[in-house]
Amino acid sequence: MFGPVPSRRLGRSLGVNNIPPKHCSYSCIYCQVGRTSRLMVERKKFFDPKAIVEAVLQRIGEVGEMNIDYVTFVPDGEPTLDSKLGEEIRGIKRNADVKIAVLTNSSLLWRQDVRRDLMEADLVSLKIDASNPKVYRRINRPHPSLSLKTVLRGAACFSEEYSGILITETMLVSGINDVSGELRGIASIVASMNPGKAYIAVPTRPPAEEWVKPPSSDKIVEAYEVFREVLGGRVELLLGYEGSGFHASGVGEIEAIINVHPLRIDYLEQLALDKGLDPGRVLEELLGRGARIAEYRGYKFLVKRPRLNA
Ligand code: SF4
Repeated sequence: MFGPVPSRRLGRSLGVNNIPPKHCSYSCIYCQVGRTSRLMVERKKFFDPKAIVEAVLQRIGEVGEMNIDYVTFVPDGEPTLDSKLGEEIRGIKRNADVKIAVLTNSSLLWRQDVRRDLMEADLVSLKIDASNPKVYRRINRPHPSLSLKTVLRGAACFSEEYSGILITETMLVSGINDVSGELRGIASIVASMNPGKAYIAVPTRPPAEEWVKPPSSDKIVEAYEVFREVLGGRVELLLGYEGSGFHASGVGEIEAIINVHPLRIDYLEQLALDKGLDPGRVLEELLGRGARIAEYRGYKFLVKRPRLNA
């Protein structure tokens, strides 16, 4: 268990690790936990569910319910591999007034028992990194028994049944899933799930494979715009600035905007003028703070440059 830690998606999140490292149905090339040592799809009991519930309740008691926005199942592996997940969620909810989130890679949603367990959660985040089976195999390196078609069918089924908050997360890797056709394919699959928010993330921590790189700023802007065409204002970027806090100055407010989505330079100028600031100096300061100018369809945008944190 860890936290609570600040998370832009989940507020103050108390993390629950219900899977030992590293059991997963995927071995994503960008995984920050490293390569998967146990690639598996069978569900099983990893820990005593009562012990998990007790540990979570104890931590909630220490921190206080009001200081936790979500108790989040975000293990070093795939949380739905835990056959006791539903029991754990129910045990926590029965004894504490907290909301539960589960971050899943979506791979087991074709199973009814997995969907049933996730129904108990207040928020579920689905990973959708690919629309093409070849790209899926390259980026997620799934267990051989998994097919993208089955996985997406399961995710679609879950999104129809689920009444809690559904969000999606798409990790973009340079040269793998950031090409235009694939971006459009992923965006349309994500849109069909009708998420409350669709997050686009880039690798910001040392990945399982050294050669994995975040996309260029131009590609990030393109991905954002392609997603925005089908999802409107429900798209946000996760560029590794979660929990960095907000600056009080006008420049800081504009920086907070570009942490979340690219900002067209002409809008930036207008925004600076509205705040009584010199647009040229604001631009210079933001470039000094790690922003970059990127182009998409003839427009110039300011976007944060992703960086790999050690
Ligand atoms: S699904 Fe998550 S835990 Fe599993 S390999 Fe991918 S990033 Fe790592």
